[in-house]
Amino acid sequence: MKGEKKKKIIKTIKIDVDNCNGCRACEVICSAFHAAPKYSSNNPARARIRVIRQPLADIYVPVYAGDYAPAECAGREKYTIDGKEYDECAFCKASCPSRDEFKEPDSDLPLKCDMCEGEEEPLCVKWCLNDALILEEREEEVEEEEEQEELDIGLEALAKKYGLQKVMDALARMSISKKG
Ligand code: SF4
Ligand code: SF4
Repeated sequence: MKGEKKKKIIKTIKIDVDNCNGCRACEVICSAFHAAPKYSSNNPARARIRVIRQPLADIYVPVYAGDYAPAECAGREKYTIDGKEYDECAFCKASCPSRDEFKEPDSDLPLKCDMCEGEEEPLCVKWCLNDALILEEREEEVEEEEEQEELDIGLEALAKKYGLQKVMDALARMSISKKG
């Protein structure tokens, strides 16, 4: 049976790599906002955005943390930009078993961009003085049940891999940091 339809604002951050100068302010503010207590520390390793930097080639590409992937993918891509070949996983958004990116340094739990939930504007967008990150919003109709189902599947996969207690502890930390 289909669930109730409800309107939802979909936020997208458009990335203009030509404007990015690799300053990493986005990484700093993201990690500070998600620290517990909020703004108590900043460690870009905890950021949900990462800037691929090749200063000699003047290449800077911000990548957001996307969904958690419980298994490595089988098909991969290689990118060549200005003659330089990038690692197959370089621009991937997933937190997955084959690499360390987008994982909480202490717990190893996956990180995902939450658009700075509770803030009017994502903080990385606000702090990017070069307009490399631009917020776009559109309204879409979604089914309430579908949303809940996706959340349940995500939590189940995390609990299976990391253990329920570790996931619960991380969620508690996240809610403390949001209140703080
Ligand atoms: S704050 Fe903007 S210019 Fe600086 S690294 Fe991030 S995206 Fe690039
Ligand atoms: S929108 Fe917020 S959570 Fe997402 S990468 Fe930017 S600062 Fe981090």
